[in-house]
Amino acid sequence: MLKNKVALVTGATSGIGLAIARALAAQGCAVVVNGSRAEREIIPLTDEIGKAHGVKCLALSADMASPPSIAAMLARTVSELGPIDILVNNAGVQHVAPLHEFPPEKWDQLIAINLSSAFHTSRAVLGPMMQRGWGRIVNIASAHGLVASPYKSAYVAAKHGLLGLTKVTALEAAEKGVTCNAICPGYVWTPLVEKQIPDQAKAHGLSEKDVVEKVMLAPQPNKKFATVEEIAALTVFLCSDMGASITGASLPVDGGWTAR
Ligand code: NAD
Repeated sequence: MLKNKVALVTGATSGIGLAIARALAAQGCAVVVNGSRAEREIIPLTDEIGKAHGVKCLALSADMASPPSIAAMLARTVSELGPIDILVNNAGVQHVAPLHEFPPEKWDQLIAINLSSAFHTSRAVLGPMMQRGWGRIVNIASAHGLVASPYKSAYVAAKHGLLGLTKVTALEAAEKGVTCNAICPGYVWTPLVEKQIPDQAKAHGLSEKDVVEKVMLAPQPNKKFATVEEIAALTVFLCSDMGASITGASLPVDGGWTAR
C-alpha cells in the first residue's frame, strides 16, 4: 500500500515506535529507525526488519534533544533513501515528580525531546512534502495531550503543545496533499510505562501494584493497556490514501479515558 515511500520514525528502537517502524516496513516503506543508542546497537534490529519485509531499513542514531543532531539525521535520510514521505514524531521520555520539586533540567530535556524535536523535524520536511504534493506527519501525543494528571507537568505541557503544533501543521499543509495528525494513546505497556512505575509509586505513596491498578488503569474504562500494534495500525491507516481527508485530528486510543 505504501510501497517505496520513505518513512522516518523517531525513537523507534523500542515500544510504540518500533511497532510503527515494523508496520510501515510491512507496507513496503523504506524505513529509518532512529534512536539515541549507538548505531551498531540498532543495526541488528534494522537488518531484521529489512530482511523480514524486503525493504531498506536504516539505523540512524540522533539525540532528539539536539537540533544539530536532528538536522544531521534528516540529511542522511535524504542522501541515503531519498526525500521523506512519512514522518512519525514518536521519541518521548517521561519524568514523574510534584511540580514544586520538578527538576528544571528535566523540564528542559523533556520539552526538547517530546515537543521541540517535532517542530525541528516537521519544519524541515514540510516544505519538500508540499512541493511534491504528498506527505504524512503523525505525531505520537498522548491522552495527556487532552487531559492532565498530577506529577507530570512537563509531559502534559509537551503533549498539549504537540496537539497545537499538529493543528497548525495540518492547516498550513491542507491544500498541498500533506496531512498531519496526532495519536493520543492511553497507557500502552512499553519500557516508558514500566520505568515510571517506581516514581509514580513514590509520588502517590502507593505500592507498585496499586500504581498499575489505581493510577494507570483507573482512568481507562476498559481497564486494559492499549497495544503497540493498535497504535501502529492506526498510523498505517493515517498514512494510507484512505486517510487523506483526516488532518489536524487528535485521535484517542485510550479505552474511553478521555470520553469521561
Ligand atoms: P519507549 O521508552 O519504549 O520508547 C521511547 C523511544 O524514544 C525509544 O526508542 C528511545 O530510545 C527514544 N528516545 C528517548 N529519548 C531520545 C532521544 N533523546 N533521542 C532519540 N530517541 C530518544 O516508550 P513508548 O511508550 O514506546 O513511547 C513512545 C511515544 O509514545 C512517546 O512519545 C510517549 O510519550 C508516547 N506515549 C506512550 C504511552 C504509553 O503508555 N507507553 C502513552 C501515550 C503516549
